[in-house]
Order: sequence, then C-alpha cells, then structure tokens
Amino acid sequence: MDSHKGTRVFEGYALGKLAVYSSIKVEKAAGLGQEAEFARFEKAREETIAALDKSYMETLSKLGEEEAALFATHKLMAEDLDFEDAIRAELAADVSAEYAVQTAGAQLAEMFASMDDAYMKERANDVREVAARIVSALRKEDKGFCLNEPSIILCEDLPSSELMKLNKKMILGIVFAKGGTNSHVSILTRMLEIPSICETETLEVTPDLDGTFAILDAMKSELIIGPDSKLLTSYSKKKKEYEENKAKLQAFKGKPTLTKDGKKVAIYNNIASSFEVENALRNDAEGIGLFRSEFIYLEASDYPSEDEQFEHYKRVVEAMGKKQVIIRTLDIGADKKIDYFDLPEEENPALGFRSIRICKARPEIFLVQLQALYRASSYGNLAVMVPMIISLSEVKFIKEMAALARENLKARGLSFNKDMKIGIMVETPAAAVCSDLFAAEVDFFSIGTNDLSQYTMAIDRVNPNLSSSFNPRHRAVLRLIKMATDNAHAHGIPIGICGELARDEKLLPFFLKIGVDELSVSPAYTLSLREQISHIDTSKVDEADYL
Ligand code: PEP
Ligand code: MG
Repeated sequence: MDSHKGTRVFEGYALGKLAVYSSIKVEKAAGLGQEAEFARFEKAREETIAALDKSYMETLSKLGEEEAALFATHKLMAEDLDFEDAIRAELAADVSAEYAVQTAGAQLAEMFASMDDAYMKERANDVREVAARIVSALRKEDKGFCLNEPSIILCEDLPSSELMKLNKKMILGIVFAKGGTNSHVSILTRMLEIPSICETETLEVTPDLDGTFAILDAMKSELIIGPDSKLLTSYSKKKKEYEENKAKLQAFKGKPTLTKDGKKVAIYNNIASSFEVENALRNDAEGIGLFRSEFIYLEASDYPSEDEQFEHYKRVVEAMGKKQVIIRTLDIGADKKIDYFDLPEEENPALGFRSIRICKARPEIFLVQLQALYRASSYGNLAVMVPMIISLSEVKFIKEMAALARENLKARGLSFNKDMKIGIMVETPAAAVCSDLFAAEVDFFSIGTNDLSQYTMAIDRVNPNLSSSFNPRHRAVLRLIKMATDNAHAHGIPIGICGELARDEKLLPFFLKIGVDELSVSPAYTLSLREQISHIDTSKVDEADYL
C-alpha cells in the first residue's frame, strides 16, 4: 500500500482501477519530402479544427460559453500563421510532419512559458495541447486515450480536449500529478464534479501503475495505491454514506435558509478564485461572503493590472446576478508572502506588515484594486470589505481612497456604482471592542473568526504545536462576536461570519440566536448547513450558555 498527498480539485471518493494517461512522444524520423509532409500537416490540421468545432458545440451545450471558449482559442492557435511558419522551418530538415509539429509546438510553448504575464504563461499548455491534437490526427492508427471500464485517471496533466472526448460515465476520478487547481482542465473537472486532486509531489506516473487498484480520497486529497481489503471496505462505506447524504441534501436546493422557528439567515460562500463562482451557484449559495482577492496577486508574477483584476471581479459579479458578492481587498503579509511585493523580513509576521497596513504604505496598489472593484460594481450587486482593521483612521483612509477611485473612473468616462457598499472585517479584538464606533462609519461587518481567535487568544493559527490549545469556541471570542453583532444591529447594519467557525455545528444555535445575518462557508458545505439550520429552534436556545 502506497499513499500520496496532493491538493483538492473537487471533493468526493473514487474506488477503482487506475488508467494511466501519457501524452504521445514522437521520435525524430525522415518524412516523404517537404511538400508532401506539409500537405499531410494541412490535412491533419483541418481534421483537428473540425474536431475542435465539435468539442466547442458539445461543451457549449453541456457547460456553457465560458468553458467552450477554450476550444475556440485552440482553433485560433491551430490556424496561427507563426505556428505554421515554425512547422515549415522544421520540415526544411526533411523530418516527418509529426516531428515538425511536435518540435514547433514545444518551441512556441517554451516561448509562452518564459513570459512574465500569467495569462500568457498559461497559453504554453494550450499550444502543447493543440500540437498534440494535430500529431494525433497525423497518426491515424493511434486511437488515443480511451477508457474501457470505470477508472481513476492518473496523469501528469491532461489536455482539456482529451477530458471532453472521454465518456464521463467511465471517469471515477482524476489524479493530476502535476497540474494546478486553477488550470483549465481543473476548472472543467470541477464543473463536471469529478472527484480529483492535483500536485501529488511524491507520485511518479509510470505505465506499470495502469490497472492497479486505488482509492482516491479527494476529501483528504490523498491517493492510496493498492489498498488492503480492510481499507477498501471502510472506504466503500464512506463513499456510500457520502453519496446518500449528498443526494438527500439536494432537497434543500432552491429553498430559503430558515430555522425551525422560522428565523431567516443567508448562507453565502467563500471563494478564492473567480472560477469557483460556478461551485457557489451549483451549491445554491445566496451570495458570496468572502472572495479572497489576494489569490489573484498570489498567482501572478507581478502586480495584476486594473484590467486583469476587473475581469476576475466582473466574472463573479455577473455570474451571481442579483445576489450579493463581497470581495475582500488585498490581504497579504503574515502567512501569505508574495516575492514581487518585496516585503521586509519580520520577527512576528502575524503581528506585522499585513493587509490594510500594506495598502496604507503603498496606496497606489490599493487604488488600482479599488478602481477595478468599482468598475466591476456596475455589473451586479458588489460590496467590498477591508481586512485587519483596528482604527477609525484606517476607515477614513479607505473612504478617501474610494472617493479618489470614483473620481479617476469618472474622469476616464467609465461607469460604476457610486453607492457600492464598503464594510470591514472584524478580525482583531480592537475592531470588535470598538465595533460601536466602526458601525457608525461603515456599511456592514464580516467577522473573520480565524484571525479573531488567533489575536484574542494570542495563539498563532498556523503553529502546529499549538493547535490543541487553539479553541475558537473560547468564551472571549464568542463575547466579542456578540458585542460586534449587537453594535452592528444597533446601527442598522448587517453582520456576517466568514471564518471557519461559520459552519461550527456546536455554535450554530448561538449565532442564530444572537441574530447573525449571514454565514459564509466553502461551497461544499452550503446545503448541509441549510439542513442543520432547519433543525434549530432558536426559542429554545439560551445565549448565556455560550458566554
Ligand atoms: C478570517 O480571519 O477568519 C478570515 C476569514 O480571513 P483569512 O482566513 O483569509 O485570514
Ligand atoms: Mg483573516
């Protein structure tokens, strides 16, 4: 038995044989002459384009325009004249069309991969994929990868076009040994709700693994190869329970979130990338309570431009329609480091240069983000919140910067919602204790219980040696939550919880009793939370028991 840890792409369990996918490698070989090989290439390209058109139409009808767009991009690449020139140049050495296409594709991909722009870097995979498709069309005898029985696909990475070609009923799960959670194929995998993990660093994808029995536990992001019968029995049970539970929860889709005694609360979702908005919608989230915008910065190799950010924000806001989307401004520092920010080394990073403190010192970065956010505000129901607030002077700074962002956009003739709501995160004891003062100045509160617990108990949230002492249900934390909730309501503003505690089964009765307006959790917990809430009768809850 052998086990490998990775990163989750989509939750669930899969038990079955591994099917190893490996891309075609063409050896250098002589061709039939330059013109004859070029004619073969042109024919294969035509076939590839026809297949891409077919994939486009299929994906459009099954998943929508955004997902289908990838195939239109691939078609453009197949038709690209620079690509064609590079192939001609390779053919001048009298090699086969297969070898020329593969080599030209690799060169072009290399060029994209070396670019600084994150979007252009991503195009490297697209070029490789298009080249592989043409090579496969040239090799008529090669039927490509197919699944004859339900299997867990094991690959280094998988072209999206290969995934779309496969019979989905045969895919139990996918392990991308390399990949990344936000690659195109990962996004498609999530949309298709296939249990999957990526970045399994310790796993080497070798052909001898083909046909080996394995368990994919995408809840724990683990692949277990060659499990014993005891483990198999326990996982079959887990999988069955998970599926039964999931099926039952579907009954809560489209329903309002109500307690047993009829109190209404909203369930929002936390997301870390604009692509995850699909998960939120699929799980019937009533809004987005926390979009961790810093991931846009973390994934880039340089400061993301206003336009780039705007595209991400717009995508989420538009997708959610009338439902509220709360985007959190940049929250880096502490455990989230970004090289190009060139942040100083610190003795106590969690208590150091972080979030709003960085924005105050580097207002130009904050302004670009606010402008992108205001631009996205005209596409739906967008609100913005700022993390790590401790003082009213920070709120004054935010308002001044917001006013400047509006003025700049006005001067540029761009539209925005001038009344976009601006709130703060209550995640420091300072913010909670002074929440009466903050409530008079901002449009809403959102409690970040992860940091509020860390700073209240003075226990580092990422120190594994202290995890047994980290008690986020500590009365001190709950008293601060109660204080902030009462102060928010006294000033007529709503309050939500977006930290991990929002889905704490033991604390749910307390949160509902004190009147928290919104709970924001990962998409996968939305329906189970709605179900739990439906069993709680707040008239029978005594908040004093928690305080
Ligand atoms: C929190 O602190 O509770 C929170 C939601 O923010 P993060 O976990 O991103 O710091
Ligand atoms: Mg926080």
